[in-house]
Amino acid sequence: MRALSNFIGGNFVAPKSGEYLDVFEPATGSPHARVPASGPADIDAAVAAADAAFPAWSATSTEQRGRLLNRLADEIDKRLDDLAHAETTDTGKPISLARRVDIPRAAANFRYFAGAIQHTTGEFFETDQPAVGAPLHAMNYTLRRPRGVAGLISPWNLPLYLLSWKIAPAIATGNTCVCKPSEVTPTTAAMLGELCQSAGIPPGVINIVHGAGQAAGGSLVTHPRVPAISFTGSTAVGRWIGEQAGRSLKRVSLELGGKNPMVIFEDADYEEALSTCLRAGLSNQGQICLCASRILVHRTIFDRFVRDLVARVKELRCADPAHESAAFGAITSRAQLDKITRIVNDARSLGATIHCGGRSPDVSSLPARCKGGYFFEPTVMTGLDAACSVEQEEIFGPVLSLTPFDTEDEAVRLANATSYGLAASVFTRDLARAHRVSDRLASGIVWVNCWMVRDLRTPFGGAKASGVGREGGSEALRFFTEPKNVCVRLE
Ligand code: NAD
Repeated sequence: MRALSNFIGGNFVAPKSGEYLDVFEPATGSPHARVPASGPADIDAAVAAADAAFPAWSATSTEQRGRLLNRLADEIDKRLDDLAHAETTDTGKPISLARRVDIPRAAANFRYFAGAIQHTTGEFFETDQPAVGAPLHAMNYTLRRPRGVAGLISPWNLPLYLLSWKIAPAIATGNTCVCKPSEVTPTTAAMLGELCQSAGIPPGVINIVHGAGQAAGGSLVTHPRVPAISFTGSTAVGRWIGEQAGRSLKRVSLELGGKNPMVIFEDADYEEALSTCLRAGLSNQGQICLCASRILVHRTIFDRFVRDLVARVKELRCADPAHESAAFGAITSRAQLDKITRIVNDARSLGATIHCGGRSPDVSSLPARCKGGYFFEPTVMTGLDAACSVEQEEIFGPVLSLTPFDTEDEAVRLANATSYGLAASVFTRDLARAHRVSDRLASGIVWVNCWMVRDLRTPFGGAKASGVGREGGSEALRFFTEPKNVCVRLE
């Protein structure tokens, strides 16, 4: 079985303890690789390498940094097929999705920030207020400087895409970084080390340390030489990181869980709402933080919508994700499959009607190599109270819960009735209502008559328990730089 390595100071190295964790292929349930079980000593070595690389890298011109980021994007493009296969083997997502979305978008992240740093503007303020006793004419300008070594921690659902979404702005702005990818899906991050070498990224600028959450990630979070942590993952771990950061006054960006509503009014383009609901709920087996899981439908079209949605969902069959034709793959880990199964069982005992799915498929319906895989049928359910545990807890799986509403006020109340606030969608043809409802939704992102249309320049992130801070565009450039105001007397 292939053993992956850490990537520190431009070299592939084994973990200092010599210990490894198994990495499982979700489609088969069998281990397919081993990943370093790194700990504090490996994090120390990576931070030292990043620290050593920082002075030269932060002094490199923006033009040169942009060129290297673009080269890294080119290397991702060249290895598109290998990376897509690795991503599918690690995550269980359909290979077509990895090839069409995840990997090209990782390259796009590097290209976007390569360009963005060429076009940043500064702030300038002219002051003519009297100082104590005498008028004073002065000019203020704000410099933004890289913070140093950035700690970047990412989850398993979009492994390369979410990691590159952090690395790109961190190094574009002159920081160096230590990455801790998810131990569940480490292969594409390990391959990124090879791509850094071929793109000519200077040693130490990007370091990748694998390992379990607390042992590797926790050591990165608490490391005194790491002033900024960008984390994407669960709300529980985000809270812990926030507490640590509070103690040490580190800068943190936390992109956390969601329980995203989709609100479908009676005047919506019915077909568009139906097909988008299918995609928004079940893409990547429902394991995208932006996936819609609570579908609120106006009562006048509710029964028809449930019937039509169930008919479409039943057409989706669990398939070997490595097959080109697969549209619906495996759940990424045994732990995640167990969680989904538990929550759907809770829904049953709370009286929900399960219209389709609700269980793992019969193994006889799966290809021979997938009989031990982590599969769960796409599920549609109705009849749950908005306040019940199932409607409050993030499932992060292929489970759609539908609820009828009568009025706009009720729709907004139901949409906002969880502790999360990451993303929401609204379907209506009424322009005024679209704007009004978007404004009233307690959500970091609102899509009107669409879902997951992403413009990398826009702020990305959640309200309430879905996170602290924002990523994307200028938000990311700001997060990774420290502002310094300089006030110059002009007379
Ligand atoms: P997780 O919180 O278990 O792990 C995320 C990462 O943090 C992993 O690399 C893990 O090893 C590491 N980690 C775990 N404990 C740690 C600790 N104590 N200190 C430092 N690092 C630690 O999350 P997950 O199960 O990998 O991912 C699923 C979650 O991520 C879901 O809640 C999902 O909504 C969320 N997510 C959010 C976004 C977003 O942009 N808001 C995007 C994708 C996923």
